[in-house]
Amino acid sequence: MRENCGVVGAYSFEGHNVVQMIIMGLEALQHRGQEAWGVAVPGSQPFKRQGVISQSIEKESHSLSKLDGNMGIGHVRYSTTARSTLRNAHPIRVGPTAAEHGFCIAHNGTLERELLIEYLKEKGISSPQGRTDTELMGLGLYRNLKDGKSWVEAFEALNPYLNGSFSLVILSERGELIAARDERGFRPLCLGWHEELSSYIVASESCALDVLGAKLIRDIQPGEIIKINKEGLESERFSEQERHAHCPFEYTYFANPSSRIEGVNVYMARKKFGHLLAETCPLDGDIVVPVPDSARPAALGYSEKSGIPFEEGLMKDRYRKKGSWRSFIEPKKREDVVSNILTIKEAVDGKRVILIDDSIIRGTSSRIIVGKKLKSAKEVSLLLTFPPVMYPCYAGIDFPTQKELLAYRICRGIKEIDEINRRIARHIGVSFLGYNNVENLSRGIGMPVSHLCLSCTTGDYSCLRRRPKFKTRREMKG
Ligand code: SF4
Repeated sequence: MRENCGVVGAYSFEGHNVVQMIIMGLEALQHRGQEAWGVAVPGSQPFKRQGVISQSIEKESHSLSKLDGNMGIGHVRYSTTARSTLRNAHPIRVGPTAAEHGFCIAHNGTLERELLIEYLKEKGISSPQGRTDTELMGLGLYRNLKDGKSWVEAFEALNPYLNGSFSLVILSERGELIAARDERGFRPLCLGWHEELSSYIVASESCALDVLGAKLIRDIQPGEIIKINKEGLESERFSEQERHAHCPFEYTYFANPSSRIEGVNVYMARKKFGHLLAETCPLDGDIVVPVPDSARPAALGYSEKSGIPFEEGLMKDRYRKKGSWRSFIEPKKREDVVSNILTIKEAVDGKRVILIDDSIIRGTSSRIIVGKKLKSAKEVSLLLTFPPVMYPCYAGIDFPTQKELLAYRICRGIKEIDEINRRIARHIGVSFLGYNNVENLSRGIGMPVSHLCLSCTTGDYSCLRRRPKFKTRREMKG
């Protein structure tokens, strides 16, 4: 399944039950996945439920109170496919219960299944169709552990077959909490420490550490594996690559604004994207309006730099449809999400609006916002913090298939930037379209272009081992 998820792992040296910590951490990461959630502690099957945590937590409090462990892992899952089953939810058990080398695994990212199947075949392991990328990776690791390899050796041996992204936590039967991040660092993963509870915490984003009152120690490095057990914490490298490929989409759209990723606060990066937009696309307008919510800091930044007043011309009605605030990742609810945006007519009527958004994926939401929500404006220009998305993502964010991407659909084969912009602007119904180029993305984040993955906008997949051959959503599901 194609998914972008959130993971949490916790290990208490003083024997505190970490289940509550893990659930609180997962709630802070709920924006990364609302389809299912799960927790695993030693000695019991993973506990999994569908939907968001707040929907089931009260009903499940009795079952959850039976979970007890001084170490554990958790996961929130997102997938756009209809197959929203508990079987596909994480954590996933690998190996028979109580098997010496068995473990539970929770994964954020996407790996090419074909390459993993090749590895398993070479090892003489039959790999039935229908297994997810995480299950296949788990089988490879399990086999290596059974062959007597250490954790770092198990990852080293499997690494040439790990094409894509993974930030993961593992709970082993031998009483270890393992955290590992792929060699390019596509998806975030960080390490924290809770002083009062003497606990290490690993989480997809630092916002999960903040809600727990834990201190961010550092990001887990690309290619690093961390092992925590009663002896303490041990860090090793299973791979070291000069070229990293952090996903800029985490900064423009996906991550919580309060999080720090690679030492950069997401909110400040978004504001900087707005400053840079104002420098590269200086427009004449009456007001700057964000598409809520992720574009708000960038709109503030644009307003700050340009001196054009910031207005909340569009607001989300959060209580009408709870949990459906992500538009491009929830196809069936897309129209609903936009209908959930309310216009403050008094702010936009008759005004020349500079509308700031994070990206155009299918273009449907932007078109509806411009055509319906801002129809009383005198003129609308659209500025995006992320350049046009023309190519699929194979590293953990579930874009639609390439044919569904607006920029690809209506600008395929066109090289001239002005013509691309004109076409997209005409389709959306705005008088001007502008966006940050890759150099601005790099400046906004404060990281060299060579350390960013930009495949979905440039079509350059050199940060992957090879470009997977998926063409349709069905093929991607595996
Ligand atoms: S392809 Fe795009 S969305 Fe996917 S990891 Fe790279 S930059 Fe992020």
